[in-house]
Amino acid sequence: MAVKTLITGFPRIGEQRELKKVLEKYWAHEAPFDEVEAAARTLRKNHWRLQKDAGIDFISSNDFSLYDNMLDTIVMLNAVPERFAGIRDKQEQYFAMARGSGKAAAMEMTKWFNTNYHFIVPELCGGMDFRLDPAKIKSEYREAKDLGVAAKINIIGPLTFLALSKTKDGGESFDYFDKIMPVYKQLLGEIAKLDESVYVQFDEPAFVRNPSEKILSLVQRAYKELAGVSGGIKIMVTSYFEHALEAVKLLCDTPIWGIGLDFLYGGRNFEGLEYAASKNIIAGLVDGRNIWRNDISASLELLERINKTIPREQIIVSTTCSLLHSPYSVRNEPAGPVKKYLAFACEKVEEVSVLAKLFSSDCLSGAEKSRLIEENKRNLLSDPNSGLIKDGKAGDGPELPGKSRRGTYAERSVIQRRRLNLPLLPATTIGSFPQTPELRKARNNYRRGLISAAEYEGEIKNYMDHCVAFQEELGLDVLVHGEPERNDMVEYFGELLEGFHFTRNGWVQSYGSRCVKPPLIFGAVSRPEPMTVKWIRYAQSKTKKPMKGMLTGPVTILNWSFVRNDIPRAEVARQIALALAGEVADLQAAGIKIIQVDEAAFREGYPLRKENTGEYERWALEAFRLAVSAADASTQIHTHMCYSEFNDIIKTIEAMDADVITIETARSGNKLLKIFEETAYQNEIGPGVYDIHSPRAPSVSEFREQILARLEVIDKDKMWVNPDCGLKTRKWEEVRPALKNMVEAAAAVREELSRAGKS
Ligand code: GLN
Ligand code: ZN
Repeated sequence: MAVKTLITGFPRIGEQRELKKVLEKYWAHEAPFDEVEAAARTLRKNHWRLQKDAGIDFISSNDFSLYDNMLDTIVMLNAVPERFAGIRDKQEQYFAMARGSGKAAAMEMTKWFNTNYHFIVPELCGGMDFRLDPAKIKSEYREAKDLGVAAKINIIGPLTFLALSKTKDGGESFDYFDKIMPVYKQLLGEIAKLDESVYVQFDEPAFVRNPSEKILSLVQRAYKELAGVSGGIKIMVTSYFEHALEAVKLLCDTPIWGIGLDFLYGGRNFEGLEYAASKNIIAGLVDGRNIWRNDISASLELLERINKTIPREQIIVSTTCSLLHSPYSVRNEPAGPVKKYLAFACEKVEEVSVLAKLFSSDCLSGAEKSRLIEENKRNLLSDPNSGLIKDGKAGDGPELPGKSRRGTYAERSVIQRRRLNLPLLPATTIGSFPQTPELRKARNNYRRGLISAAEYEGEIKNYMDHCVAFQEELGLDVLVHGEPERNDMVEYFGELLEGFHFTRNGWVQSYGSRCVKPPLIFGAVSRPEPMTVKWIRYAQSKTKKPMKGMLTGPVTILNWSFVRNDIPRAEVARQIALALAGEVADLQAAGIKIIQVDEAAFREGYPLRKENTGEYERWALEAFRLAVSAADASTQIHTHMCYSEFNDIIKTIEAMDADVITIETARSGNKLLKIFEETAYQNEIGPGVYDIHSPRAPSVSEFREQILARLEVIDKDKMWVNPDCGLKTRKWEEVRPALKNMVEAAAAVREELSRAGKS
């Protein structure tokens, strides 16, 4: 008997990012909506066809979206916020919610669990008229059927929808359970009419994030009611990224047909199987969120383990999550040593199919099975004969004093104050200055070989000269070089470090039409030569004020890359940290007195389950401390994080022991900052006073207010004045007046403080 196969969901952006291109044309009024629809139809057709050709049994419909599946669910429920209600045209309304229009601000976006995909956050409020709009779901199902695919229908489950919603009227999002359930039931009623039997996949990833009592109390009600809708509907409830043990126990006691579980990232899902003997188990095994080939032997072992409790005919082989988080296909990558180790979405579909055949009792001969398994071993990073990962290089670094800096902040700060001689409330910026079209052009021309290295460097130096002169003129106290030589804070370092690979077409959807192309870490990470010293030294030569050395931290480099899966992430973090420690040592030796190590992605790397945070904190912290361990007491270490929610991680922030931490508080104000006061945080803090996400330049008095407000919770001797984040996405016209006002306000407050101090 052949074991069945399922793909949780397929990426929709397209092999050549067709969806991105057509959407952006449409938004620029360069294409009619018909063109978007036609492109979308072609994409869906191609994606269904390739899954069908691979022999996949359960292929998704409604995994497609013109922007985001949560937004589609908002439309399905008619949970449209009031400010968009006046927009009559459906398409216009849809994109207005995503991107804003006129006076109506766009809806908030946030990261989908611990991925880099962003969804639109539903805003629920009392007056909402929840009403079913099944149009998209029905038409995509029919479209697939016309192509000979009896697709399952993917729908965000009601509990995850609520768990990810915010409310506008003070209530709790789960208060809306009774309002949205009738719509979901009605939807199933409509689906039942589509065919004799239809499979519906409810995505409930909210079950994996330490589910609350509240959500658990609703699991059985939701799925008993949904499974009770008459007609030939078979319900699967799918979770991913972690185990869903608590919810699984409850689901087993409802009449649903199947349960989808991630057995790769959710090892404890095995414990739920004993309750699930009567259910079909959709076994997530092929990694949907990394790009390495599947380890067949490891997957077969997991299948055997599942099979100890669940009969083979009830097991369905699947991806661990939607392939939304993988690039499209390896076939578009140039030949090279890394290529054979890769599997993107199209290849993962094949992998699911092959795995099911290997696990079936009668699909392949024993000889054929062994051949496939042996061949697979040679395509894994763990292959001992892989010439890819060169030994010995990783960790070649400087002589380090130990695993972290010596001395306490109190001791270091005395030395640093004497050396740096900064005024009260020193003013600085976070690193990048506006990336101009000229800069982008120069970089592109250089990459394409149209201008020489000398010409390119000339452009960069020009920019830095200008940038330094500008900062001097304004009177900033600690300067930056502006990062003109970097297009991206991770890519820049990845390109200079050993062990990284960059794909040609490895695009993954980040939000809407935006895609990112994360680097791949395949091997031992090491630093062949200094990466930033030349530029920082140049910038420092243009000023007497301290110039910050600017590095991306080890945890951020790790979290924004596809990481090798043959050794623990902690070990890869340690390798990156050692490489960075070398850079810190070299910057210091070059006379740089302040070094900033950005950890923008430190927080988002936190595990979904509390039980795992201790372990993450341990190695992430160790990596950061190792990266800065080469710094002498007289070298001031800064770190930067792009958020302000530190309540639950304050102990870790303290333990990072950066001399200065700059964070994002211009919008959130003091509320989230209080934790630093409550815990009597010792080191210095630069709370953002300039919201760099807005083009608007605040006035001197607004800045003054911001600074005074921050001084209510931060000691004046410990406070810095700076923007929320880097300025690279802003325009010079916006940045010039804003920074001028910021520096002026800092000076004014400084003056007020010293006058008050004298009297
Ligand atoms: N130094 C970086 C910059 O200024 C930091 C960016 C970030 O934190 N995302 O652009
Ligand atoms: Zn930032």
